[in-house]
Amino acid sequence: MKKKIAVIGAGLTGSIIARKFAEKGYKVDLYEKRSHIAGNCFDNKEFNSFTHKYGPHLFHTSNERVMEFLKNFSDFVPYPHKVNAFIDGQFVPIPFSLASLKITHPEFLQKRIVQKLLGEYKFGSQITIFKLLDSVDKDLKNLGEYIYDKVFLGYSSKQWGVKNPLDLDKGVLNRIPVRINNDTNYFNDKYQFLPKDGYTSLVKNILKHPKINIFLNRNVQIELNSITSSCESIKINHKNYLHAFFTGMIDELFAFSMGELEYRSLFFKKSEAIFSPSTRPSLQLNYPNNYNFTRIIDYGFISKTLGFKPLKSRLVTEYPGRFDRKSEIFNQAFYPLFTSKAKDKYNKYKLKLKSVSKVITVCGRLGTYRYLDMDDAIAAAFAVVDNSILIK
Ligand SMILES: Cc1cc2nc3c(=O)[nH]c(=O)nc-3n(C[C@H](O)[C@H](O)[C@H](O)COP(=O)(O)OP(=O)(O)OC[C@H]3O[C@@H](n4cnc5c(N)ncnc54)[C@H](O)[C@@H]3O)c2cc1C
Repeated sequence: MKKKIAVIGAGLTGSIIARKFAEKGYKVDLYEKRSHIAGNCFDNKEFNSFTHKYGPHLFHTSNERVMEFLKNFSDFVPYPHKVNAFIDGQFVPIPFSLASLKITHPEFLQKRIVQKLLGEYKFGSQITIFKLLDSVDKDLKNLGEYIYDKVFLGYSSKQWGVKNPLDLDKGVLNRIPVRINNDTNYFNDKYQFLPKDGYTSLVKNILKHPKINIFLNRNVQIELNSITSSCESIKINHKNYLHAFFTGMIDELFAFSMGELEYRSLFFKKSEAIFSPSTRPSLQLNYPNNYNFTRIIDYGFISKTLGFKPLKSRLVTEYPGRFDRKSEIFNQAFYPLFTSKAKDKYNKYKLKLKSVSKVITVCGRLGTYRYLDMDDAIAAAFAVVDNSILIK
C-alpha cells in the first residue's frame, strides 16, 4: 500500500504531525471539522492586532527543539506576558510576588512579612500557595489565606465550576506560584514570543508542503467496530490509509460508549474601547471576585508588541461554563476537568485504544485529555512521530 496517512484535526498537534510525515515522504490528507486551520490558536487581524478567537494564546517555552522548529515558519517578537488581578479596587500583579505585597498590604506589615519570607525561602524562589497555607508562622499563614481568598478562590471556583477549589487536583492551584521576588512577568520560560504574523499564518506555513492536502469542514467519524488487530489499513471518507492520527475528543471517537468526559468551556463576549494602559494595565486582567466573568483580554497590547501605536482595542470578556455539546454558548471543549473520576473514565477509553493501535494513534490536547500548553503540544507531537510504528 502507498505511503499515505490521514490526520484528523488541523490544530498545532495535527499540523506538526502532518508536516513531519510529509517530510518523510508520506502523502498526508489532513481533515478539519472547523472552517479554518490552527485549532484553538486561530487568530484574525483587527485594529492592527491579532484577536485570538478561542482565548488569548501567549507562547512561552524553554524547549530548544520546539523553538528551533518554529523559527522555520515564522518570525517572532518578544512578548513578556503580564497579568493583573483586580483586587479591592486596585490592579495587583499575578503571580503574587513581593511587588504585589507592596500594593495590597500596609508598609509595617510588608516589612515584617518580607523578613519572615526571606528567613524561610531564598530570594528569587517560588513556592506553592499550600506552603503558605500550611505555615506555622501566623503572618505567613495569614498571607497565604489572603492570597487564597483574594486571588485563587473566586477565580478557580468560576473557572472550574466548584465551590471549593481545594477539592481539585493540587496541580491546578500549583500552576500559579507565589514568588519571593519582585518579578511581574507571568511566565519564567527562556523564550516568550508572539508570532509576528499571527498563529494562523504560522500554522499555514507549517502546512505548506506539496505532500499535504487539507480538507476543511470535514467532521471525521471513524467506524471503529470494523477495525481488528489484524487490519493493515484504516478507511476514512472512503479512502484507505496506512494509519490515522486523531487529535479530536477520545470519548467522541468511541461514540461515548463509556460516557462523556467532562470539560469546562468559555463564552467570549466582544467589545471595543480606546487603548488605555493607564486604565487597563496589561493584556490579561483577572477578576477573581465580585463578577461572574473571570478575565478581560485587551488585544491592543498585541498591537503595541508588534510596533504599532494602537488607538483602539478589541476587548474580550471570558465567562466560564460547563461544556455541553448541545449548548448554544458552551459547546467548545476547552479545559479537561481535573478530578480522579474524570481521569478514571479517560483511562478506560485509553485502554480500549490498544486493540486498534496498529492503525490509529490518538493524540493532542483533546485526544490525551490533558491541558497542554502550545510548546507541550508541539513536543508531544514530535514524540508521536518519533515513536510511530511507521517510522520504526
Ligand atoms: C482558552 C485557552 C487559552 C490558551 N492559552 C494558551 C497560552 O496562552 N499559551 C499556550 O502555550 N497554550 C495555550 N492554550 C493551549 C493551546 O490551545 C493548546 O496547546 C493547543 O491548542 C493544542 O493543539 P491541539 O492541536 O492538540 O488541539 P486543538 O487546537 O484543539 O486542535 C484540535 C483540532 O481538531 C479538530 N477536530 C476535532 N475533532 C475532529 C473531527 N472528528 N474531525 C475533524 N476535525 C476534528 C478541532 O476542530 C481542532 O481544530 C490555551 C488553550 C485554551 C483553551
